[in-house]
Amino acid sequence: MKVPEINGFICLGIESTADNLGIGVASSEGTILANVVDVHVPEEGGIHPREAARHHSEHMGVVLSEALGEAGITARDIDVIAFSQGPGLGPCLRTGATSARAMAAYLGVPLVGVNHCVAHVEIGRLETGAEDPLTLYVSGGNTIVSGYEAGRYRIFGETLDIAVGNCLDTFAREAGLDYPGGPAVERLALKGGRLIPLPYVVKGMDLSFSGLLTAVTQELRSGKWSLEDLCFSLQETAYAMLGEVTERALAHTGKGELLLTGGVGANRRLRSMIRSIAEEHGAGPKFVPVEYATDNGAMIAWTGVLAYGCGLVTPIETSYVDSRWRMDEAEVPWRG
Ligand code: AMP
Ligand code: MG
Repeated sequence: MKVPEINGFICLGIESTADNLGIGVASSEGTILANVVDVHVPEEGGIHPREAARHHSEHMGVVLSEALGEAGITARDIDVIAFSQGPGLGPCLRTGATSARAMAAYLGVPLVGVNHCVAHVEIGRLETGAEDPLTLYVSGGNTIVSGYEAGRYRIFGETLDIAVGNCLDTFAREAGLDYPGGPAVERLALKGGRLIPLPYVVKGMDLSFSGLLTAVTQELRSGKWSLEDLCFSLQETAYAMLGEVTERALAHTGKGELLLTGGVGANRRLRSMIRSIAEEHGAGPKFVPVEYATDNGAMIAWTGVLAYGCGLVTPIETSYVDSRWRMDEAEVPWRG
């Protein structure tokens, strides 16, 4: 095995926590050399973990070749292999981890297991220039408000059940809208305007979206409302909940930047709410570009660079995945 070098190394990162298979390449100087993503689209229904995992194993080879081609390197130029070690769907995580172990062993380079949620924050910092932000991370599988404090990314608020993106996607499917549901709901919401009362569930600093999903689905089936008004009300309610928790965490931490990331962060209504919250608290709003906000390999490669730069490596024997690995359990010595 190579020993950590102080400078000048290249990390390849594999992301496979859910429906996206991503492979990215990052240099220790902070340049993203490649970011290739291949999305598994279910034929019907939501993500089936085993089918998504099968997609990832079938596409691993071609996505890898594309990433190396985009970066203009060969496999022998790679100094470190990073992979998403959790949280995520077990079968999908294991597919990425198995490929990462095989590649690291074959090339004789170290392996670095990366926390997926930490990686979202780190690529967000790299791409927006935010230094020490409070982060709202909203995606198909996660809803977390976090910030760095005393050696860890602390979780100030999170969903107690489903993620906000999952809520939007499931409602959209019930309503016969295109997959993924978030953009379809956003488009229709622009034409709605009547606020239908729906459950607004904030418990302490945590959120719950499953009751909201049940209620909005019941209202849909009742036939009483237009789909436009339902989409409008779903967005207003869900995003106001996110806004409340984010604002309180911002006030509590006094952070000077507010970072929005995850696929749901593409939403214009949510962005405008986040912008006003940030401005009211004198914090700079930072929006991660979509290609780096949705699940991608570049964020794993870049976080691999940060970890390896501090000498963190993951021996193959302890490289098992953890589908429930919380971001506040991950070591982040580069922030110290
Ligand atoms: P991710 O899990 O980060 O890959 O992001 C996927 C999630 O983002 C899915 O739940 C999508 O429905 C959601 N999404 C994508 N675009 C939008 C949008 N414009 N508004 C709301 N949600 C969105
Ligand atoms: Mg994600």
